[in-house]
Amino acid sequence: MTRLGRGNQLQVAIMEVLVCLCALATHGWCADYGKVTTSKVAEGVYLFTTSPYGDVGFGGNSVAIITDEGVVMFDTSGTPASGQAILSEVRKLADKPVVYVINSHWHWDHWGGNQVFKAAFPNVQFLSHAKNRDLMMNVAVAWNAPGLEKDLPDYLNYEKQQLAMAEAKHTSEAELAKKRELLAADESFLQQKRSVTYTFPNATFSESATLYLGGREIRVLHARAITPGDTYVYLPKEKILITGDILVNPIPFAVGGSYPQEWIETLRKLNQFEIDAIIPGHGEAEHDRSYLERNLTLFQRVLTDVKAAKANGLSLDQTKKELMDKAGAYATDFGLSEKDLPDFKNYFLLVFVNRAYHELEKPLGDNPIS
Ligand SMILES: [Zn+2]
Repeated sequence: MTRLGRGNQLQVAIMEVLVCLCALATHGWCADYGKVTTSKVAEGVYLFTTSPYGDVGFGGNSVAIITDEGVVMFDTSGTPASGQAILSEVRKLADKPVVYVINSHWHWDHWGGNQVFKAAFPNVQFLSHAKNRDLMMNVAVAWNAPGLEKDLPDYLNYEKQQLAMAEAKHTSEAELAKKRELLAADESFLQQKRSVTYTFPNATFSESATLYLGGREIRVLHARAITPGDTYVYLPKEKILITGDILVNPIPFAVGGSYPQEWIETLRKLNQFEIDAIIPGHGEAEHDRSYLERNLTLFQRVLTDVKAAKANGLSLDQTKKELMDKAGAYATDFGLSEKDLPDFKNYFLLVFVNRAYHELEKPLGDNPIS
């Protein structure tokens, strides 16, 4: 195994442990690590995307819904620093306090900025489904620990060795500068992750909740799709759907839970809403339902193929092999290119097939670690 191969494997392991997402991870390094970009989705509704934290982590989307009576945030990205950058943007857009932060699900890349909003607005309510609060408190912290304590520090050491070897080999200055910049970004990410003060929901709901605020109606809804506590939002007047990681653009992401049959039911349900905009958990907003429909078609097709394989007496390993052989066809029909195939396999197909197969045998439990 080459050093690069070993490094890549380690990187994948870290990403799985930390539940990082990045469709861009294997496609090249971006220079503006952890940079927050604001885009207007509709009047008073803004999306904040965060660029990758080096090559070890990715921040989820955050959304601000501005009303005359205060701001409602949906998720806070992955680190205190990106939460702070988002808060600075929100302050430029509205002179009202943030009154609610809705947390979509327990994966760290969506709520690492919570503490910043608590510090700035001590009375802010953190709202999520009761199951999600439970997972944030009792699963997320344990899930993240090995990455922070071992995998990420190990990867940083590996990067340092690679840099030292590159320096010894008289690698070009431009190449060295790129490596140093990446290492600095990865070190800063670890520092950020260690500076997180876990800030959990202090308000929960079981079926649904509706906020009536400053003339807006904000429906907060529950699904069991990527996690058992998925919390998403629909604005009926503005026809805006904010999905969290139930939808991830451009490559679906199933690591860290996933309930294939109910996920498909959820996508069908989302497809019934009137839509002017869909804001996914990662990636840009969509202004039609085509990406949602492509996800639904893909998920249904993979589940149908798992069912057929199992009905033909194939074991889990045989089913995985059969479906992985079709990965290229699934990805192409979904609209992805060859370069997306490794991420499509690792972050979606392998996990989804595994979970779908088990789900056909017995109901999946709520704990993604068990
Ligand atoms: Zn995410």
